[in-house]
Amino acid sequence: MSEKIVVIGEVKDGVLRNVSFEAIAAAKKVHADGEVVGVVCGNGELSSLGEEMIHYGADRVITVTHENLQNYTSEGYCQAVMAVVEEEAPQVIVMGHTSVGKDLTPKLASKLNTGLISDAVDIEIADDQVQFVRPIYSGKAFEKKVITDGLTFFTIRPNNIAALDKDTSRSGDVTDKAVEIADIRTVIKDVIRKASEGVDLSEANVIVAGGRGVKSEEGFKPLYELAEVLGGAVGASRGACDAEYCDYSLQIGQTGKVVTPDLYIAVGISGAIQHLAGMSNSKVIVAINKDPEATIFNIADYGIVGDLFDIIPLLIEEVKKAKV
Ligand code: FAD
Repeated sequence: MSEKIVVIGEVKDGVLRNVSFEAIAAAKKVHADGEVVGVVCGNGELSSLGEEMIHYGADRVITVTHENLQNYTSEGYCQAVMAVVEEEAPQVIVMGHTSVGKDLTPKLASKLNTGLISDAVDIEIADDQVQFVRPIYSGKAFEKKVITDGLTFFTIRPNNIAALDKDTSRSGDVTDKAVEIADIRTVIKDVIRKASEGVDLSEANVIVAGGRGVKSEEGFKPLYELAEVLGGAVGASRGACDAEYCDYSLQIGQTGKVVTPDLYIAVGISGAIQHLAGMSNSKVIVAINKDPEATIFNIADYGIVGDLFDIIPLLIEEVKKAKV
């Protein structure tokens, strides 16, 4: 009998977050021949989201639709996912290590009386064992975890395990499961969105991050322009957030978001350990700083020593030229 794997999909603004597809790829790394069962929770029509999970490798998908699942609450989503897990009795459960994943999975693990490996950035098979690679000490080292017995329950960091190619010829059952979602003590009264959402920072492939060296809110404008021409998002150091050059939602680091883009451009950021904790695993790091001794250059793949206010406009111009 093949292993059964439940992948918990995450929906944001009516679309599945990319990490849901990465979780399917992660599931296949654990058991290449396992049956992947996707779960999508929400309110309203979810079957097209279920089909999308199938296009990315799920074998079938169970949707749970209920008015109490309109917005995420750990109580509501826990009831919905638990109902599916109890029926499917999987050997493996996977979800993205996102804000929702970080909130929901420990609660599920506690209900299932099982362990949880959180924030895996890779999965390796060695000595016939599945090893989950996860960062420790703020990304300074990595440990490998193995589950020897019972349910394999893990979360994956977005942008680390590549999703499978989308294959629209794939088909599979998308079925709706009726679940009574009751006793929700958390009341969501309103969801207040930021005026400019742009590319989601935690899933962006390119991030242009500004630090205290950017000097003002106005100084961030060229960074937004560079991010736009590169199709990326803007992030920031805590120094820049504390100085009120930008919103704390942009903060990257130990007490901010942890990101792993393909390209991270650190602009006027010194490279404090707390900042590195949030971005040092980026695939390519470019640092722009007028101080040649800045710590950020120690981890940068490419360093540009100079005044950011001269360099950023040149970069914007060059990227625009390259796109023509
Ligand atoms: P600075 O250290 O002031 O660096 C500014 C840099 O800009 C300098 O290197 C300077 O040479 C350069 N510069 C100035 N002008 C220019 C110019 N015109 N052109 C080019 N370069 C220029 N920090 C985080 O980022 N994220 C966190 O999550 C975080 N969590 C923390 C948690 C704790 C418990 C503590 C104690 C600290 C935390 N910090 C965090 C703060 C961290 O220690 C640093 O203070 C912060 O990262 C510094 O921000 P910065 O690099 O923008 O500023």
